[in-house]
Amino acid sequence: MFKALVMTQDSETGKATAAIEDLTEDQLPDAEVTVAVDYSTVNYKDGLCLSAKGGGLVRKYPHVPGIDFAGTVEASDDDRYAPGDKVVLTGWRVGEAHWGGYAQKARVRADWLVPLPEGVTGRQAMAVGTAGFTAMLAVMALEDHGLTPGTGPVLVTGAAGGVGSVATAILGHLGYEVAAVTGRPETADYLRSLGATQIVAREDINETVKRPLESETWAGCIDAVGGDMLARVLGQMKYGASVAAVGLAGGAGLPATVIPFLLRGVNLLGIDSVMQPYENRLRAWQRIATDLPMDKLEAMVQPATLSDLPRLGADILAGQVKGRVVVDVNG
Ligand code: NDP
Repeated sequence: MFKALVMTQDSETGKATAAIEDLTEDQLPDAEVTVAVDYSTVNYKDGLCLSAKGGGLVRKYPHVPGIDFAGTVEASDDDRYAPGDKVVLTGWRVGEAHWGGYAQKARVRADWLVPLPEGVTGRQAMAVGTAGFTAMLAVMALEDHGLTPGTGPVLVTGAAGGVGSVATAILGHLGYEVAAVTGRPETADYLRSLGATQIVAREDINETVKRPLESETWAGCIDAVGGDMLARVLGQMKYGASVAAVGLAGGAGLPATVIPFLLRGVNLLGIDSVMQPYENRLRAWQRIATDLPMDKLEAMVQPATLSDLPRLGADILAGQVKGRVVVDVNG
């Protein structure tokens, strides 16, 4: 028997609710590798999966959410993994279409796993999670498009959230000036401690585009917000600079003009963490091990257990989680 947070759907209302249940291994889905989960986390997408309607992501109930986990292989039908191996999983629609990490055990495909990188613990890997992994992918994409330190401030939107906090810490460590956009002024000291050199109030940058081009201000941008904010930022980018579009915390629309692309050669780079090929996953985790200061990561963490998850799911959808949550599934 092991414990899991199980979402069950009410047949009359169609609404799902979460409860901690005892499950047996034969209830786990079919796949090659059984993992004893040590830690999971809470991303924005987890908030959706924990909501009554599953955010349009969960197709079948009963369901075990948790899009990320770190743990130890217990049994493997695949040569790449053996009992005792430390592994991490993010993405591949685990926790949405496949049972996920909000349980003491998970069974997943070997293709979806990555060996825990040298020098990173399972707890740290979940402090990173999909949010931090995506922040690293965004930094890599900006670098691949020519971003280097010393060329001006890099804007990070939704800065006090998960993606934003990790992006701020990585960029700060790499020697970039970081302009952190937040709607929560009380997080300014926290953001500065992570590496922000400038705090930008959300309302200063969250207005609808009035002029397609404004002063050339930002050398790069990691955007977790989308919507009006992303549209506005495009017109403030320096000539030839790139924006990594990561999220939609402020909306899925993009009420922009094409003028910044045509007159300033601005690049809009899409970042997807879910289907990233294995080699790029390894590259990103290696970069996390070297370029994300672990003391800064620790400063972002709030610890949690399985019973905290319904509350934290609602909090993250309301934009009220600061930094990263680490869920001790055995706690
Ligand atoms: P968080 O909730 O931790 O962070 C989002 C932050 O955005 C909030 O903390 C808040 O920051 C800001 N925010 C929230 N609502 C609004 C709003 N209405 N207008 C402007 N700013 C807002 O979520 P995550 O960091 O986990 O995820 C961020 C986004 O990135 C989500 O949309 C998520 O779906 C997406 N994502 C995409 C991935 C991919 O593969 N492309 C992977 C991971 C996440 P503050 O209070 O500082 O303003």
